[in-house]
Amino acid sequence: MYSNFLDYQTKIITFSKTPTIYIYVKTKTMSSENRRKKSLIIERNNRKILGESEMNCPEASENLKLNTENRDKSIKAEYIKYGPLNVDEPGNYWVDLAKHWETTEEAAKKSLCGNCVAFDISERMKECMPGKTSDGDGELGYCWMHNFKCHSARTCRTWAKGGPITEDKISYDWQSRQ
Ligand code: SF4
Repeated sequence: MYSNFLDYQTKIITFSKTPTIYIYVKTKTMSSENRRKKSLIIERNNRKILGESEMNCPEASENLKLNTENRDKSIKAEYIKYGPLNVDEPGNYWVDLAKHWETTEEAAKKSLCGNCVAFDISERMKECMPGKTSDGDGELGYCWMHNFKCHSARTCRTWAKGGPITEDKISYDWQSRQ
């Protein structure tokens, strides 16, 4: 009779002179996906309760002009060279990038925004996106290195291993360091 209730069970604890915070309690009956969602919701609520007001979406994710300026700068800057502009017709983009990295074209093509450490596709960032974020080639995310909405099938010269960012707490951490 308690199974539904247990699916959404949380435990409330209170520290003296501090706000009440909610602790997530695992239950056997909850699916792993619901467990993950529940954990995210509780994390967000705790941020609010503890006074770390939830951060707004990054400005460029909501301001088209700023986003376009940052993207265009990232395309032009010699040390960034975001691209290829058209993933179906990349021209010499991958050849040039491979030369720059002193690697093969094949290897260069494996270093994409989609697996870059700065590529943010966390749940909270998805809510900052203007609408549908995926197409046949991949998906849109937010680049914390150059501050614009970039596409998982593109890349740039500052690519770094370790992504994408999928957890809200890591997304907030990048934002807090901007
Ligand atoms: S996400 Fe990474 S690879 Fe893509 S533009 Fe940003 S820094 Fe470059």
